[in-house]
Amino acid sequence: MLPVTLTLNAGSSSLKFSLFDISGEPAQMAIGLVENIGGQPRLKANLGDRLARVERELPATEAADHTSALATVLALLRSSFPGAKASVVGHRVVHGGPHYTAPMVVTGQVMAELKRLSPFAPIHQPHNIAGIEAAQAAFPEALQVACFDTAFHRHHPKANDVFALPREYYDKGIRRYGFHGLSYEYVSEELKRTAPLIHAGRVVVAHLGNGASMCGILGGRSVASTMGFTALDGLPMGTRCGQVDPGVIFYMVQQEGRSIDEVRDIFYTKSGLLGLSGISNDMRVLESAGVPEANEAIDYFVFRIRRELGGLAAALGGLDALVFCGGIGENSRKIRRRICDGLDWIGLELDHDRNDSNTRVISTDFSRARIMVVPTNEEIVIARAAKRLSSGTEAAAG
Ligand code: ADP
Repeated sequence: MLPVTLTLNAGSSSLKFSLFDISGEPAQMAIGLVENIGGQPRLKANLGDRLARVERELPATEAADHTSALATVLALLRSSFPGAKASVVGHRVVHGGPHYTAPMVVTGQVMAELKRLSPFAPIHQPHNIAGIEAAQAAFPEALQVACFDTAFHRHHPKANDVFALPREYYDKGIRRYGFHGLSYEYVSEELKRTAPLIHAGRVVVAHLGNGASMCGILGGRSVASTMGFTALDGLPMGTRCGQVDPGVIFYMVQQEGRSIDEVRDIFYTKSGLLGLSGISNDMRVLESAGVPEANEAIDYFVFRIRRELGGLAAALGGLDALVFCGGIGENSRKIRRRICDGLDWIGLELDHDRNDSNTRVISTDFSRARIMVVPTNEEIVIARAAKRLSSGTEAAAG
């Protein structure tokens, strides 16, 4: 039997999955997702080189909730890879609270803690927990491993961990957690492997996707990030507002008479690129729209990234590299160019030809700091952790 690990990333109405061969360094065999769980679900999957791409509508009963969606995924994987045996399942979990600084085997105690943390990430954590419970039911023998988006940032210096609120709130867990940690960990490990001197230095990573954040990393450790208590802070995103003055909330509630749920909905789902443009949350659509509203949304996105870059470089005491990842960071040469142009004062000089050809290093040979594109891979970070923890458990049992 081929030892494999399944990685799961359960969202509100989606279940993303990957299958890795873990007989050696984890190698991806399949990737896919079920979307529109609870509605009119669709399955999309890519089952490796030799097998055809799968994309089809599912009967509503085959993905009515995360449990049935997982059963549908497993049926597909079992028929495609009959010789595979998953003894460990890795989960992306958005919130690990103040104490989880590394992936954890999910015990009853860990599960209780994840549930206790749900109010800190009410839009994501309950779905992550549903994913773990579905996997526990489907693989009662398997080890479940939780990998946290917050963990990479848990060594922030205190000044980057607090809000200037009354002290008791820090103890109640109101802290600057930071997110996208699995992506930052991947990029940082890639730098360690391919550019060790850069890894040892001062790096800002810009994870620019539908969700977007930036992180200042010093010698492989997160020092500061643009996301704070929730994944709402910092940069504008597809539909999330990023940083706003909290006074706006009071105004909407007290003067406009909106409920807190309405305000939350505006901040999470109607703002960002979508809200500003009034057109789309999708950068490709905005880039080709050619109308002032779309351009204004892009202008704001670029402006906030440049502003945060300055702040993070100050937090790091300088800059040795700026690294782009995420759907926009990896693909949009126009956005990268707009971010980097005129930043020679901070040591960044973009090579336009390299940028246009999407190579890994896109700065000139004379640029004091390097500009790079490193396609991220959060799933492999989860698969590596799952493998590591499962072999640790086997060793302990043996
Ligand atoms: P998520 O945060 O959901 O994982 P992704 O990392 O997949 O999101 O990023 C999605 C974003 O990347 C969308 O705004 C999409 O328009 C953008 N994107 C993908 N490819 C391109 C491209 N070639 N040019 C510009 N933007 C792109």
